[in-house]
Amino acid sequence: MVQRYDAIIIGTGQAGPPLAVRLGKYGRKTAIIERKLVGGTCVNNGCIPTKALIASARAAHIARRGADFGVILNDAVRVDMSAVKARKDAIVQQSNRGVTEWLHSAPNVTLIEGHARFEGPHAVRVGDELLEAKQIFINVGGRAAVPDMPGLADVPYLTNSSMMEVDFLPEHLIVVGGSYIGLEFAQMYRRFGSRVTVIEMGPRLIAREDEAVSAAVQAILEGEGIEFRLNATCLRAQRHGSGVRVGVSCEQEPREIIGSHLLLAVGRVPNTLDLGLETTAIRTDARGYIEVDDTLATSVPGVWAMGDVNGRGAFTHTSYNDFEIVAGNLLDGEARRVSDRIPAYALYIDPPLARIGMTEHEVRASGRKALVGKMQMARVGRARERSETQGYMQVLVDAEDQRILGAMLLGSEADEAIHCLLDVMYAQAPYTVITRAVHIHPTVSELIPTLLGDLKPLV
Ligand SMILES: Cc1cc2nc3c(=O)[nH]c(=O)nc-3n(C[C@H](O)[C@H](O)[C@H](O)COP(=O)(O)OP(=O)(O)OC[C@H]3O[C@@H](n4cnc5c(N)ncnc54)[C@H](O)[C@@H]3O)c2cc1C
Repeated sequence: MVQRYDAIIIGTGQAGPPLAVRLGKYGRKTAIIERKLVGGTCVNNGCIPTKALIASARAAHIARRGADFGVILNDAVRVDMSAVKARKDAIVQQSNRGVTEWLHSAPNVTLIEGHARFEGPHAVRVGDELLEAKQIFINVGGRAAVPDMPGLADVPYLTNSSMMEVDFLPEHLIVVGGSYIGLEFAQMYRRFGSRVTVIEMGPRLIAREDEAVSAAVQAILEGEGIEFRLNATCLRAQRHGSGVRVGVSCEQEPREIIGSHLLLAVGRVPNTLDLGLETTAIRTDARGYIEVDDTLATSVPGVWAMGDVNGRGAFTHTSYNDFEIVAGNLLDGEARRVSDRIPAYALYIDPPLARIGMTEHEVRASGRKALVGKMQMARVGRARERSETQGYMQVLVDAEDQRILGAMLLGSEADEAIHCLLDVMYAQAPYTVITRAVHIHPTVSELIPTLLGDLKPLV
């Protein structure tokens, strides 16, 4: 028998649950389907657990640096990995339970467990049940990409998901992939006590950032003893006893790196291959991401795609914003668009890297006249007080209309401090609003007016 709903949501990522609750409140009979863990990647094997683990790693790091602050520990710092995992699990369970209970208690919302697959543009099968609705919202997210690396099929490897089960200290963790996810795990495990080598195919880390930023991040991580092997163009894997041997170069010695464990962090792929999209006219791009317009509508009327699966964002805040756009347009009579969103994200190494708007490279490529302000974190009183002076801040301003074009803050509290710049960008106000603002002392944010007060032409 066909179950009829007003709306069906596939996936409980960062957009699906709030949309289900909103639709339910509007009296729409809504089904939300989850095949695995309620709350999706961020809650279960993405942001929340990694940031909980990073907090443990930071505690170990600070403990080791105790003497810098005049704090003397009599014994060497020891990390209990099962306690680290148990703490992480408790934090994850709280969030997972919170979302599950929220959905169960929401009026007009039914949470269905199982894998959903389209059987036509407005029909979805979950096990024996066939569900139909005029409105369908896809929020199926993505998963770790597994590269086509010779020998990989014969070696055990970890991804961000299986890393969540690790309750021991790898002796030597090899991380393939020098971008966001790889670097967070690399620093975390180095601080837990592992030897860590990061292998990156490109000539530098975090390729989407400016070259100077990549270099600064690498220097910070090398300072903690993380080893890097860039330009690894001859990647291959082989078993080596209970560990793994990873080939990195076909010409340059050492050609191989031997480690105890291998983590793959080479990007994400959308969960669209097993969604039955071939039974619909929903279009995907060459990489499998669902094509959407500025309101997140797919090529099939009445079907929307939200979150990582639409390729328009890859973050929790972009997925949640997708919910806001869809709900605003469908329920609140607003006219919201994805193109109104300003790129913003952070890389949670310690100290963090926060980025908004355009990079210096993008500003130069745009050909516009721009001003640039740069300041070392060593000038920031708050950073000095904490003995955390690594990194620098950079802001780019349009020389003609005085609007902020972009900023990069690498340093203590960077992920928080950047929001004063971001909010002024959203307000479409000139940067002088900030230079005239009085910020609280002693914070990292208090130096942002000073940073903006000393702009020079970008030559
Ligand atoms: C290690 C790691 C760290 C991260 N850290 C951050 C961070 O610090 N900050 C940040 O902003 N972002 C971070 N992210 C990204 C963030 O997790 C995602 O952008 C965010 O979860 C949004 O995902 P989503 O809403 O698209 O769907 P997801 O959260 O991926 O959820 C999709 C859900 O759909 C389910 N599903 C898939 N297919 C089906 C189907 N056919 N039927 C039923 N259910 C299905 C899946 O099981 C999953 O539960 C991180 C990601 C990773 C991997």
